[in-house]
Amino acid sequence: MPSVESTLLPLNWRHPYDALGTAFYTPVQPAPLTNAHWVAQNHMLAQSMGWPSSVWSSDELLSALTGNEVLQGSQPYATVYSGHQFGVWAGQLGDGRALSLGVLDTLIGPQELQLKGAGKTPYSRMGDGRAVLRSSIREFLCSEAMHGLGIPTTRALCLTGSPDRVLREEVETAAVVTRVAPSFMRFGHLQHFAANGDTASLQLLADHAITQYFPELLSLEGGPKRYTALLARVTRLTAELLARWQAVGFCHGVMNTDNMSLLGLTIDYGPFQFLDGFDPAHICNHSDHQGRYAYARQPQVAYWNLFCLGQAMLPLIEDQDMAIAALETFKTDYPLLVDLAFAAKLGLTGSRADDHTLIDALLQLLAQEKTDLTIFWRRLSHATGQLAVKSLEKAFEPVRDLFINSAPWDKWLPAYVLRLQAQDLAQTSAQMLKTNPKFVLRNHLGEQVIQQAKIGDFSGVQDLLQVLQSPFDEHPAFETWAGFPPDWASSISISCSS
Ligand code: AMP
Ligand code: MG
Repeated sequence: MPSVESTLLPLNWRHPYDALGTAFYTPVQPAPLTNAHWVAQNHMLAQSMGWPSSVWSSDELLSALTGNEVLQGSQPYATVYSGHQFGVWAGQLGDGRALSLGVLDTLIGPQELQLKGAGKTPYSRMGDGRAVLRSSIREFLCSEAMHGLGIPTTRALCLTGSPDRVLREEVETAAVVTRVAPSFMRFGHLQHFAANGDTASLQLLADHAITQYFPELLSLEGGPKRYTALLARVTRLTAELLARWQAVGFCHGVMNTDNMSLLGLTIDYGPFQFLDGFDPAHICNHSDHQGRYAYARQPQVAYWNLFCLGQAMLPLIEDQDMAIAALETFKTDYPLLVDLAFAAKLGLTGSRADDHTLIDALLQLLAQEKTDLTIFWRRLSHATGQLAVKSLEKAFEPVRDLFINSAPWDKWLPAYVLRLQAQDLAQTSAQMLKTNPKFVLRNHLGEQVIQQAKIGDFSGVQDLLQVLQSPFDEHPAFETWAGFPPDWASSISISCSS
């Protein structure tokens, strides 16, 4: 494919894997799609990267970010990784339908741009290298929803579509998401070289990760100590991520080790779901028959995945006890982090020994009634503010109304109010409203805009993007998106098919 000079931006592409060698990647060319069109543009992200708004009106960007031409200086590549899928070693996987264009220096730091769905790569195995519009809209919106919630994630710069047909359970149309992240490195990248017994490459890759993404570790003595510190950093970032997921009710759906970011980002949005009613046993992926990735199991699975990473890094760490000590920090950090996250949702200032009991009792009563999570937390945030001007009963009435059997709630509430006693309630409420979102990407909201998009109306995607980018704001024009899910929401079936 001939490369074209960019007339819009001075794009100085860098290729981080070049220095490592072709054991780590394969140069690839995107496969064009016909009649490419914009589906959605993320102006906010482009602006934060320092791109002028004029880029969006150019055919050049549309073409380049669909994979129909390669911008000068970009040398697209796909990387190799392996991994455990559903607890079983799957061997070599790799970027089967993602190709990176390179890394750009932006106002938010160096960012790798990756096209998902731009054609086959040497790692496509039986796949077609494509992504369908339906799942690409979900990935595009959820990346930005997570970012809006303050949860670490890969980002999505834009979404383009084409009438070209892609066969899944039925015939669908093709789309390409441009993903943006400091790096798309996964646990599986390191696992790959460990599994092949290629310690030299494993070390090169670990050193690359440290130099590029964890430079603070360079001050440590090189060798096992530094690699142990890398494992401990990834463990900590993963614990922080999981605490955030659990607190907001996010289910990833496919927590395979190849879908775990080395930087602690949410990555690879497939059959994910934000819980509607609070059901800890909820399984969002219809292909997950055993419930391996059920909501409540996610932290445990994260630890299991970290353990696999630790095993892969053992040739570098050299000492099993050191690796285990680094991994064990998950078991102490995660419970503290998740309690802190829920304490923040409750508006509690300071930290008290019995906060855990208060949180646990609340989660149990929410689970008993499968109370709508997002609405519960939002109403609670408002109610706390009302407590300053209304009686306890009146202030919390909208919350109490959420329960059919309100006895457990009535029993729990006095302990909460007592805990808030010394706090400024208006301030607490304001803080809670910045912690508990009004909007999350519920399945039915995604489904609505997908159905609209399938008949060529992309306005819903763009509107939903805007709302999800600031989910703590009121957005009165979109009040219905903050409401209870309709009955049909529970029958939406999301599988690995994408
Ligand atoms: P996922 O379940 O989406 O994380 O994908 C697991 C592996 O399958 C990764 O190596 C993907 O690149 C690859 N893969 C998934 N779908 C396709 C596809 N349509 N074409 C090629 N590779 C794919
Ligand atoms: Mg994946």
